[in-house]
Amino acid sequence: MAISRKQSLAAVDDFLEHHEDELDNSYCLTWNQQERPKWRFEGRTEPLYRWVAGAKYIGLDDGIVVRHTCDNPYCFNPDHLVKGTTADNNHDRKGCTYK
Ligand SMILES: [Zn+2]
Repeated sequence: MAISRKQSLAAVDDFLEHHEDELDNSYCLTWNQQERPKWRFEGRTEPLYRWVAGAKYIGLDDGIVVRHTCDNPYCFNPDHLVKGTTADNNHDRKGCTYK
């Protein structure tokens, strides 16, 4: 089931309410408590960057991947996240950076 934008916004709010003080916002936005933070909201666990990307865009359909323009997989700064396809992501994994 796809993530709706409303769910994403609520999940991000929920996360920030609990952990806003622990975030490192120097260029990339990261959370030191977990290397690749996941957040559980309404029974659904997703990487935090997916919730953030869902809030930034209209929502996220299954099959849509979220790419990091900063090449930092721990980052969930909305400015560094773009939507892509699995093919794009495989391309990234081959060592080509996002441009
Ligand atoms: Zn970043």
